[in-house]
Amino acid sequence: MYINGEWLTTGGTFSVANPATGEIIGEVADGDQNHAKLAIGAAVAAFKGWSTTTAYARAEVLHKAYALMLERKQALAELMTREQGKPLKAALNEVQYAADFLRWFAEEAKRVYGETIPSARADQRFMVRYQAIGVVAAITPWNYPISMITRKVAPALASGCTIVLKPAEATPLCAIAVFEILHEAGAPAGVINLVTARDPVPIGKEFCAHSEVKKLTFTGSTAVGQQLAQGAAAQLKRVSMELGGHAPFIVFDDADPVHAAKGASLVKFLNTGQACISPNRIFVQRGILDSFVTTFSDRVAKMKVGNGLAEGTSIGPLINQAAVKKISRQVEDAVSKGAVLHNGGTRLADGDYSAGHFFAPTLLSNVNEDMLIYREETFGPVAAIIPFDDYDQVIEMANDTHYGLAAYVYTQNLSRAMRAFEALNFGIIGINDINPTSAAAPFGGMNQSGLGREGAREGLADYLETKLGGFSI
Ligand code: ADP
Repeated sequence: MYINGEWLTTGGTFSVANPATGEIIGEVADGDQNHAKLAIGAAVAAFKGWSTTTAYARAEVLHKAYALMLERKQALAELMTREQGKPLKAALNEVQYAADFLRWFAEEAKRVYGETIPSARADQRFMVRYQAIGVVAAITPWNYPISMITRKVAPALASGCTIVLKPAEATPLCAIAVFEILHEAGAPAGVINLVTARDPVPIGKEFCAHSEVKKLTFTGSTAVGQQLAQGAAAQLKRVSMELGGHAPFIVFDDADPVHAAKGASLVKFLNTGQACISPNRIFVQRGILDSFVTTFSDRVAKMKVGNGLAEGTSIGPLINQAAVKKISRQVEDAVSKGAVLHNGGTRLADGDYSAGHFFAPTLLSNVNEDMLIYREETFGPVAAIIPFDDYDQVIEMANDTHYGLAAYVYTQNLSRAMRAFEALNFGIIGINDINPTSAAAPFGGMNQSGLGREGAREGLADYLETKLGGFSI
């Protein structure tokens, strides 16, 4: 753990395993509620100094961290592949994405402009300034174990907040590597704190209960986000919630079926399907259904499942056996209710796969709303294709979910693209585009996919309070 500028160990530790091989790759300090208290105390003590440091000095720490992260890109990516499983190329992309947040918020720190507002009274002047909220508590997931940290830490530091972070128990080594960088970049003692723990519950409780924590930022499942938001409500703490999704991917019959199938298969199997913006329902208009399914199936057949460090691997393992079981249940349920299985469908457990959590990339067509996969987030390498007939029908089906994070639309018709963009109740919409994300663009969901946005101007505003001054002169 890293508290008040020092690395700490505890009596108890927990092990971190490589999901591809089962090999134990590290032992990490097992923090408890008292460690969370201690870390919050350090962040409280550091807040006054840090929040009154100039934006230029705060930006300098972030710029240095950016440079260090790029210098260590290869080593960080290899660590990520061993700890989380994604193919090395995807891990390299993630380190770049993670570093982008450091740079972007370093730049943005200097642009927290205030406002003056004309008053109706001749003797009055209004001035608005934005200032750091205070101590921020952050909880991050394992699926993007470096970028989900910088997406929270960078705006916290840019705005002048201090922060305590609890990373996912499956990927604490990546978190430690990020904190080593922030330490070397010159973040002062107490400004950034890391509490690793096998059991997240007592840490989450302390984050909600401590009166000095002014904001809770969480990325993870909707169920846990709802619990934490309830806990934070008792003191009306600010919350940012980046939760689950059930993205529709809509392919209209004027789209090029080959291009659309290529896009759908790339984004569906990204990170072995373990992404909150992963397409969970692929709606294809009947006119191009056959050619779309054939192209998609051919692409899936060529995917190579394995250890992410091996050359040519396109699909890594799942994070654990619970994930494998959940996916098996969804596939069995769909097939028993009439889905057609084109590829995969089973766990891979022979030979090199025996010690890891592998599942064959799977393609199902003829999926319908009676199946679990139609509503439940899959978070795994299963593509579910659902046919549709017309525009109104598909928009209604796509919006028929409690989630509202990402959606994708493929069409060459500009008016249809614009209408769909406006009609879909999702926070992020890719139009003929499978990667509508960037440090400079707001990321976040509607409905039960979350509250607030990360990245972009919005991502900084979420760490700032608005203060109005009324001056009588
Ligand atoms: P997933 O199912 O994808 O692992 P979770 O929401 O369970 O998603 O995990 C995301 C993060 O939330 C992890 O850091 C995990 O340790 C943490 N977490 C899980 N349960 C709780 C809880 N009850 N209180 C606080 N944090 C939690």
